[in-house]
Amino acid sequence: MPGFELFGSAEQKEVQDVLDSGILMRYGFDAMRNNHWKAKELETELQTQMQVKHAQLVSSGTAAVSVALAIAGVGAGDEVILPTFTFVASFEAVLMLGAIPVLVDIDDTLTLDIDAVKAAITPKTKAIMPVHMCGGIAHLSALKEICKTHNLKLIEDACQAIGATYQGIPVGAHGDAGCLSFDFVKTITCGEGGAVLTNSDDLATWADHYSDHGHDHLGTDRGAESHPFLGYNFRISELHAAVGLAQVRRLNDFITIQKKHFTVLKDALSTIPEVTFRTIPEGGEENYSFLSFFLPDLETTRAAMNALKEAGIDGSFHYYDNNWHYVRRWEHLKGVKTLYPMSQQIQSGLKELEGKTFTQSDHFIGRNISCLIKLSWTEDEVKLRASKMVEAIKSVL
Ligand SMILES: *Cc1c(COP(=O)(O)O)cnc(C)c1O
Repeated sequence: MPGFELFGSAEQKEVQDVLDSGILMRYGFDAMRNNHWKAKELETELQTQMQVKHAQLVSSGTAAVSVALAIAGVGAGDEVILPTFTFVASFEAVLMLGAIPVLVDIDDTLTLDIDAVKAAITPKTKAIMPVHMCGGIAHLSALKEICKTHNLKLIEDACQAIGATYQGIPVGAHGDAGCLSFDFVKTITCGEGGAVLTNSDDLATWADHYSDHGHDHLGTDRGAESHPFLGYNFRISELHAAVGLAQVRRLNDFITIQKKHFTVLKDALSTIPEVTFRTIPEGGEENYSFLSFFLPDLETTRAAMNALKEAGIDGSFHYYDNNWHYVRRWEHLKGVKTLYPMSQQIQSGLKELEGKTFTQSDHFIGRNISCLIKLSWTEDEVKLRASKMVEAIKSVL
């Protein structure tokens, strides 16, 4: 997954352009910037690659989710349905807007289970936020249908899945808004950065203004611009955008390398009858950033993790025991451990989480191992890794 592995002369050249002019900000300073508009160029490149009308760069993936929810009108007391398996950023963004994260079970796609989503809808539900975890794809057709029926917004968190497609269109470009992350460990990196994608002109305008203190970006005098509504600062810098610009041009190459490595590992693990693989919804093609598979039960999976560790196989994740990606360890959320008071609405909304069990999610996450696919492996390294993994897993079955 990590684009940082292939950081090189292309990235350095783009950054050097910015350093040469000294204009590190994406807005204004037209005369001094030698016609370098790295953030704008990256937005245009993303629009083309993601087959979407608008892309708004922001300072992080978390910022992208926050902006996407804000422009979708999610606010005080609204409920947002999201999965038990995601990164903490998903609920952080919801809480930032004064809304209530409603966690629901996942299925063998490692994304939202459709029946669980339907059961979680209440009159307060405002949006559904599928997370395309580990390069996979949520049940987008069914989710679009549900959103249409119940008049809900669909916000895709595609932070881990840039390059994956569904029905020929990149994930992140299907919902009312989609979110990308360009943090240091994602498929494409800016160092820190993110983007909001949308096909709606209104949402795009609101994202543009909201992520820059409400600036309407009209005219050439920044100080004289007006502010049609309240905003925040979620701007990306030109330096970060410059890195991302070089990286995103290499996206197809990165995905091709990932697919090659992924296929060697998957073919090897397919020889073990007890191993099954994460489901990708029909019509979808993952981005091959992780190889995700299931073992028969929790104990075997824990034993396999130990065996992989002993065999020196790094980059394997058993999210069941992970602090950041799975509901079991989110005590800070369940206990509403904040530095400042939260609204009564949020506190009573989160009460529901206390002591709640997610048997179906446990069933899948408990048996799941996800292996990060690296870009920098040589062919020999991938083959050696594949045989070591097979040996380690077989040793515990
Ligand atoms: C990385 C990530 C984010 C947040 O992105 P940052 O750029 O690190 O803020 C959000 N959601 C998911 C699923 C992620 O993996």
